[in-house]
Amino acid sequence: MEETVKKIQIPEVITVKDFAERANLSISAVISDLIKNGVMASINETIDFGTAEIIADDLGLEIEPEIETESIKTSTKAQKKAVAGKNLVHRPPVVTVMGHVDHGKTTLLDRIRETSVASGESGGITQHISAYQITLAETKSKELKNKTITFIDTPGHAAFSTMREHGTAITDIVVLIIATDDGVMPQTIEVIKQAQGNNVPLIVALNKTDLPDSDVTKVKQQLAEYDLVPEDWGGKTIMVEISAKTGKGVDSLLEMILLQAEVMDLKADSDEKAVGIVIESHMEKGAGPMVTLLVENGTLHRGEPIAIGSAYGKARILENYLAKTIEQAGPSTPVRIAGLKSLPEFGARLLAFSSEKEARESALLENKGYSSMKIATAKRITSEDDDTDSEKKELNLIIKADVAGSLEAIRKSLLEVKAIDYGMKIVAEGVGVVSDSDVTLAQSTGAIILGFRTTIAGAAKHLAEKEGITAKFFQVIYELIDFAKEELANTLPPEIIEKELGHGKVLAIFRDDKKGFVAGGSVDSGKLTVGDEIKFLQKNDEISRTTIVSLRREKNEVKESESGTECGFSLPAGAVVAVNDAFVAFKTIHKKRTIK
Ligand code: GDP
Repeated sequence: MEETVKKIQIPEVITVKDFAERANLSISAVISDLIKNGVMASINETIDFGTAEIIADDLGLEIEPEIETESIKTSTKAQKKAVAGKNLVHRPPVVTVMGHVDHGKTTLLDRIRETSVASGESGGITQHISAYQITLAETKSKELKNKTITFIDTPGHAAFSTMREHGTAITDIVVLIIATDDGVMPQTIEVIKQAQGNNVPLIVALNKTDLPDSDVTKVKQQLAEYDLVPEDWGGKTIMVEISAKTGKGVDSLLEMILLQAEVMDLKADSDEKAVGIVIESHMEKGAGPMVTLLVENGTLHRGEPIAIGSAYGKARILENYLAKTIEQAGPSTPVRIAGLKSLPEFGARLLAFSSEKEARESALLENKGYSSMKIATAKRITSEDDDTDSEKKELNLIIKADVAGSLEAIRKSLLEVKAIDYGMKIVAEGVGVVSDSDVTLAQSTGAIILGFRTTIAGAAKHLAEKEGITAKFFQVIYELIDFAKEELANTLPPEIIEKELGHGKVLAIFRDDKKGFVAGGSVDSGKLTVGDEIKFLQKNDEISRTTIVSLRREKNEVKESESGTECGFSLPAGAVVAVNDAFVAFKTIHKKRTIK
């Protein structure tokens, strides 16, 4: 008997293509086995070691980690577990304020910081800080008293584009600030679309209500056009009238943020090793790389070994936003750390480890482009994630058309398209040319842009090309729809068809030991060929499936055995087959789905 188990070494994370290559298997065999195990991964997507282990068994492979990643694997698994973990505790909401320039974002953030920062220590903050926490000391509501909010001051596009990259939102809630003497402006619209496209709840702060030409009703009417209808008009959007300058209404805004957070039931596991994200980093004289981070899950301890993207070291300095040394930081806490050997980028991920060796290996893997840790830990924990697979089976689209009528027609046709449980999601639509902000939105939501009888602005075209965003233009509606269907079809897992090649019955088992399995049977129709997949059935129920390793007729080794013959077939060791089982030899065909 031939040795059928093949040994291969693979890294912590590997693309399906590379895995197939190393295993010397066809890509379709790997993909079909992944699908069998409930993993939908296409050729260029990555699978982690754990997943590879599962399919390796099925594929007759023995896999080993390529470098010393065993310890990391354990940590990653532990962190992965944390996401689904049960030791969940409530965490403060992470909030970003965004809006059109001059609408009062800075004034509002300053006001909040001055009036509410923990125990009046705001005096300690002299320079601009990109993240801080406040606790609500003054409130009539008992439940909200002393609750904490984490504010992040980061460029809007950065807050959103990291969402896509990490499959997570850096922010739980967006406060959209609008000057009521000015109204809805282009950046206002951009924030609305980004938030809607990324499913991040919005709270509207209607600002500058102290000014004589403030017109709250007009702004509410403008917002209604974007599906943002205030609660007092029967809608669902929380809108709070404020004056960032005088401070009027700012407390109710904070209360509303906390109420929204309660509804979202934001949770994290503070017992785990920390996972976080970089908000800002720069070199500081004497201290080296200084990094502002948000701890998203787990607890970061001072002195702990950490990896941030491809940088690693120890959290030698751990400070809160007031630049005070702290011993530890739990979920939703912004911190400043020093102790890394190199400077990490905005949006890079923090992972804490038990040893510096693991941290170094993690950084090394990241450097090689295996972003395993991101995959493992990217997901935010909210109670909604407990029961739903958050991976949406949708093709995100941004539609631009010449006139409202054609837009309507396109939307209707697109939303009718359904394939298995996949469908189209229109992230944004509008009349006019494709602009910069459409491209940025496409980038953050993974959407493709479809234009109907319109064009793309020069700068936007440039950006789309640079970022590899698909933007297609059509003159005929059905061509646009067909293109969208084709794109959707490309994202669907292939249809798996088993083409029957022959069937028969098992008459005897000749051998069943560690080295192999040999049975004899009669072929009643079609034929058996070496290399065919074969499944065994009892009363029409499939019992097992494997591959025909070799065939014998009489004493001779043969390549195939036809209908009407009796033959012996050897199977990989451990085959589950019994006398009198029916067998079916077949070929698996991966058929690309078409959408009608
Ligand atoms: P940002 O560009 O959104 O950060 O806007 P700023 O916070 O810098 O505010 C722009 C201008 O509007 C500044 O001159 C502020 O003083 C003023 N401003 C902000 N909020 C208010 C407000 O509630 N009332 C009045 N009257 N002026 C405000």
